[in-house]
Amino acid sequence: MNDPTNSPETRFVHAGSDPARQGGYVNPPVYRASTALYRDTAEMAASQADPLKRGTPVYGRFGTPTGRAFEQALTELEGGHASVLTCSGLSAITTAILAYVRAGDHILVSDSVYLPTRKFCDSLAALGVETEYYDPRAGGAAIEDLIRPRTRLLYLESPGSTTFEVQDVPALTTACRARGVTTIADNTWATPAFFRPMALGGGADAGVDVVVHSATKYLTGHADSILGAIVCSQESYPTVRAAAIRLGQCAGADDAYLGLRGLRTLGVRMARHHEQGLELARWTAGQEGVAAVLHPGLPGDPGHALWRRDFTGAAGLFGVELHPDFGRAAVDAMLDRLRLFGLGHSYGGYESLVVPADPVSHRLPGTWAGRGPLIRVHVGFESLTDLKEDLSAAFEALRC
Ligand SMILES: *Cc1c(COP(=O)(O)O)cnc(C)c1O
Repeated sequence: MNDPTNSPETRFVHAGSDPARQGGYVNPPVYRASTALYRDTAEMAASQADPLKRGTPVYGRFGTPTGRAFEQALTELEGGHASVLTCSGLSAITTAILAYVRAGDHILVSDSVYLPTRKFCDSLAALGVETEYYDPRAGGAAIEDLIRPRTRLLYLESPGSTTFEVQDVPALTTACRARGVTTIADNTWATPAFFRPMALGGGADAGVDVVVHSATKYLTGHADSILGAIVCSQESYPTVRAAAIRLGQCAGADDAYLGLRGLRTLGVRMARHHEQGLELARWTAGQEGVAAVLHPGLPGDPGHALWRRDFTGAAGLFGVELHPDFGRAAVDAMLDRLRLFGLGHSYGGYESLVVPADPVSHRLPGTWAGRGPLIRVHVGFESLTDLKEDLSAAFEALRC
């Protein structure tokens, strides 16, 4: 099934699938596992000699066949070499970063990253690792200027959390590769359906070294699991896998199963999120009280050209900046008026959600120009007519 010439829709359905390995059944069983028994001491010794080797059963913490099936599918979809599952998206991020940094190192992290990623990077100061945040709009030359002899990593997330800046990923990876700096990308928003940062146009050289995912979001797709994944290049895999083993990272077989099941419908779900999200973003931009809509798929968006160049679609998640005269109470009244849009964290499921966002509290001066209150919208699979009605009523509540 591992045929890279297949179109993406086909790959979502068949990636990593091997019914013959599981008695002919289409889906793999859920291996709830801690202990695996060896045939004899020779097999035990062989497996302990090389804990990086996959395939032979060792112990549930090192992975199960269910997890392996999800890893293989995701690896294939991202164009990587191998993947490591973790218990959450955040643990995938912290594990990938900890795999590389040592005391005295300097790391470059986009100013627009997911806030818990930022808090983790700030905490690395206690281990002697210095984090420098860079403007997500930085090009290759600006990044070259920031690279120091002890720069170990460049971390990116495109588009950025809550403010949705699109990064020039090939420019950044090219600058970093020339200086021996490892690159890690959070690809939770786009998923491999719309962006493959490891398999960018210019061949292996243009791609990032490591892709991290909150599989909790679109990959699983049904708001019923917390799961993380790290997709690695051939070179980065031993480093990342060794760190995951050291840190005790693993994912339960039930969650891995849900991740794999979600992947099978990722193509159709993302196509629908794209369509509905883009239409609702367009419509929202025309509503009274809205100062700006932050969605790279909109032609007026600052990231639109890069998005068109590198992405094949947009997730259902975007930002809405309201007019600066609206205060907290008005925004709360608006959010409380929503009936279909749930007020809650996360995204990527079938349902529509909103959450207030506050980038100003932690951004570098100058990298975020918005002035009004910001909300983040996730567009699910409800009817657009119903969603627009729900939002219309909420915008009315905002204005009174
Ligand atoms: C949600 C999210 C994470 C963290 O994922 P969890 O599975 O909740 O730990 C990381 N990165 C991005 C971009 C996210 O949206």
